[in-house]
Amino acid sequence: MNSRQEFRISWRTKESLIKYATISLLLLFWAPTNHAFELTGNFWEFAQATFHVDINGASPSGTTWNEAFIRSMDAWTDATDFEFLLVNEFLDPCIDRGGPSGFGDDTTGVDFTDTVCGTEFNENVLAVTLTAGVCLNPECTGGFNITDADIVFNNNETWDVYGGPLRFDNTAEFERTALHELGHVLGMTHVSADIEAIMQPFTSEIDSLQADDIAGANFIYGGGATLSTIYGIDVSLPRNSELSGPADTVNFSGALANTDADLDGRLLDIYQFTFVNDSTVDIQLSSNTIDTFLYLVRVSSTQDIIDAFTFVDDDSGPGRNSRITTNIQAGTYWLGASSAGVGEVGDYAVSMVASTSSTTPSFEIFQSIYDAEVQINPNPQIRGSLSSTDFLFAKSFLDLYQFDVVNTTNLQFDLSSSQLDTYLLVVEILPDQSLGSLVLENDDRSAFSFDSRIQQLLPPGTYWIGVSSSFEEETGDYSLDITVVLP
Ligand SMILES: [Zn+2]
Repeated sequence: MNSRQEFRISWRTKESLIKYATISLLLLFWAPTNHAFELTGNFWEFAQATFHVDINGASPSGTTWNEAFIRSMDAWTDATDFEFLLVNEFLDPCIDRGGPSGFGDDTTGVDFTDTVCGTEFNENVLAVTLTAGVCLNPECTGGFNITDADIVFNNNETWDVYGGPLRFDNTAEFERTALHELGHVLGMTHVSADIEAIMQPFTSEIDSLQADDIAGANFIYGGGATLSTIYGIDVSLPRNSELSGPADTVNFSGALANTDADLDGRLLDIYQFTFVNDSTVDIQLSSNTIDTFLYLVRVSSTQDIIDAFTFVDDDSGPGRNSRITTNIQAGTYWLGASSAGVGEVGDYAVSMVASTSSTTPSFEIFQSIYDAEVQINPNPQIRGSLSSTDFLFAKSFLDLYQFDVVNTTNLQFDLSSSQLDTYLLVVEILPDQSLGSLVLENDDRSAFSFDSRIQQLLPPGTYWIGVSSSFEEETGDYSLDITVVLP
């Protein structure tokens, strides 16, 4: 557990000043997607970081660098569950940062520097955040607890502090850059350029925290984010909502309040969990005030409840508490906390132990008449990979998933990968496996993305989703997210 890891992220600019103008135009037409934020997997154990800040001098506009930097720290602290603590003292951010094993000194600092602690700034890089910490597992595959973060601003740039659109004379804007780098400090990485967020890969006219940035920080440090509201009910996505085993423990508390949605007069909170593998779960819902009632229901990609995986319990736990112990298939589930009696309010606690019962999810797979294997997978989130053993279709590898639409539903399919240029197909399949009239395909969802997106109102029927690549025989991991678009 003593291995340490360092992480460097930089923010680029200028190479595409024209791009910014185009990006901001696109944003007018594209609503931000839920949960576009991207996380490094690294985090501060106690949701706070102490920063030593005493940067010499002031910007041409008069604001001192200190004022602008501290305002940026406060912006994150005020808007999220993370807290930046300030010490008005200069600490050299590069102390112990030099050399190949420079893992920092466990104290945070910020300054303008000519180099990234000895390494040249890459072209167009405004600032670099260096974090380091203690790995969470011996192989260091599960991220690290951040114990040190330092920010260096590129001294070779011309800087000022100002709001709104970027100046076209190449003057870099300090405050939004600080805001962005502090996002890296707390464990976030870049979102794609078409998402409205300070965590875009390029500096733009966005000069304040956006909803996506706040949701990202709260996903790491808070009680989690709220997914889009379904049927008038807020579905919460708790921290650690994706459970991959072999053994996961989840504990959290909540409260039934009169502001909650209700089911026949019984107040209800819903939490969404995704089980990557088939699992055995033991869920307890307990309260001193409420006669608890517990639901566990599986939901499909069209957010229909899959009846075969619906579990309810009133009093199997101690006293009037609830408990569900069962085996479930890999998939997405809603955990519902409610009461047996009408209108009951009060605090409750949920504890869940989930252990993997099989690392090969038990989905039905069949050989199609086209020779490709089709997996029946009703989940809203599918993680897969194109590999050289996959079916070859038009010289690209192809994975096929079958799902059903029960009621006409407006669905959005997002296929993304950092390893391949994705290509997405959605086709209607008739009972004899011939193609129906609906055939949709998409290569790049925007001019700035190699990911794919299809949005379509789908009538009841059976559909195949094809995951492939734009280029011949590309392999790599991908994720496919299917969301219901609400009117
Ligand atoms: Zn960045």
